[in-house]
Amino acid sequence: MSRPAPLQLVIVGSVGLDTIETPAAKHADLLGGSASYACAAASFFAPTGMVGVVGSDFGKSYLDIYRGFGFDLAGLQVREGRTFRWSGIYEDNMDNRRTLSTELNVFAEFMPELPENYRRAPFLFLANIAPALQLRVLDQMRKPRFVVADTMDLWINVALADLKKVIRRIDLLTLNESEARHLTGERMLVTAAHKLLGWGPRYILIKKGEHGAMLFSKRGTFLMPAYPLDAVNDPTGAGDTFAGGFIGQLAAGGKVTEEALRRAMLVGSVIASFNVEAFSLNRLRKLTRRDFARRITAFKHMLRI
Ligand code: AMP
Repeated sequence: MSRPAPLQLVIVGSVGLDTIETPAAKHADLLGGSASYACAAASFFAPTGMVGVVGSDFGKSYLDIYRGFGFDLAGLQVREGRTFRWSGIYEDNMDNRRTLSTELNVFAEFMPELPENYRRAPFLFLANIAPALQLRVLDQMRKPRFVVADTMDLWINVALADLKKVIRRIDLLTLNESEARHLTGERMLVTAAHKLLGWGPRYILIKKGEHGAMLFSKRGTFLMPAYPLDAVNDPTGAGDTFAGGFIGQLAAGGKVTEEALRRAMLVGSVIASFNVEAFSLNRLRKLTRRDFARRITAFKHMLRI
């Protein structure tokens, strides 16, 4: 029997069916979840494996979408029961999202078990999911070179002790500006980021939606704007595709240097900008290398002084 191909990157997170309402449209049963978005984005750059769980109601058409991206599915479990479901609404300002319902379903009993070739991957992304599950995955990895973790308000409220254990063991924490303020109790983002650096990670990446992202380390700060778009149709997954593209690009290069981190921020911004042009993974499914390269060139031109 041939051995499975080595993976550069493993991503664990939610895999779910979303119902999303914007001022312009409402769609149900969209393929979503933090791991779906992050794996789709990362797979443009590096061999990626997904860790997650779906229920027996998860249709073949969704798996076909995953296969189209080409990431590895050996770490995706199928369990009797219903797939994770989430629904949310964006009101007038697309930056303000309200969660209407969350059904953990098969995620409530999920026990991640990593295939052997996943455990040796050098890069790991713990996308948004219960911190206890992030820890379980981290425990199964053999000395990953670089670990990134994401989180959300819910876990700051209900699982702070586990979240702090995660934060102590990772290289980079990514979170949005309101989460950074909530987690640290600091109003100023610079102060919040420096406080978080004191909790363990070497890097803190704060996402600011349409205002871009900031990367903090003890050595300094790097700022990356968001690629300016004239229309955003669905902001869901912007953070996950940013982070997936970011770590996918780092995993492709294999080295975590200052220059590589900056390049990864550029890639993350551009891939996220494509994602928000359509619902679910619909824009990324059609994305070509040529579209991507063109937008990178246009963006670099905008950033030149
Ligand atoms: P983002 O827009 O980057 O925050 O990510 C949106 C995705 O997060 C959606 O596709 C949801 O399925 C997923 N999501 C929402 N709530 C949760 C939760 N409590 N745990 C894990 N994933 C979630």
